[in-house]
Amino acid sequence: MAKAPHDESGRRASEPPNLDHFREMLNEHMNRRGLRSTDQRKLIVETFFKAPNHISIEELLAEVRQQDSKVGYATVYRTLKLLTECGVAFERKFGDGLTRYELADEASHHDHLICTSCAKIIEFEEPKIEELQEKIASRYGFELLSHKHEMYGTCADCLAKGRSARRTGN
Ligand SMILES: [Zn+2]
Ligand SMILES: [Zn+2]
Ligand SMILES: [Zn+2]
Repeated sequence: MAKAPHDESGRRASEPPNLDHFREMLNEHMNRRGLRSTDQRKLIVETFFKAPNHISIEELLAEVRQQDSKVGYATVYRTLKLLTECGVAFERKFGDGLTRYELADEASHHDHLICTSCAKIIEFEEPKIEELQEKIASRYGFELLSHKHEMYGTCADCLAKGRSARRTGN
């Protein structure tokens, strides 16, 4: 499957996520809600599991439609909502108006750098930042459940383009 153009990261091959655990979480959630798993919903879920991180509803819909052209936007939207509700997926909003989704794989926790020029999303992991966040929380007697660390700015590619544009003048 082709990576989404805005994504430089994809999944880490070294730590494959435990997809059976995620499938179980979803099944339990759907049983509680009295929902039946349909072929379309299964296809959407499995396509999401194989997709690169930070996939939008539109991108996932396009992937799913390569397998089944009858799948509609609303079904993809509702399935992603279910995945988010039961803790299988994280919903991400990076300020470009799109809602993106990624697998809630805590074993490969990462934070994000977001380019506001080209919407590229770069994932990073920095143990020192993670440690500092824990320290700040405990300083306030705060029990940390989760965090989002997002940094907005201009990526190296866009900076290079800006520089070359300036060099060539006008
Ligand atoms: Zn973090
Ligand atoms: Zn950029
Ligand atoms: Zn991410």
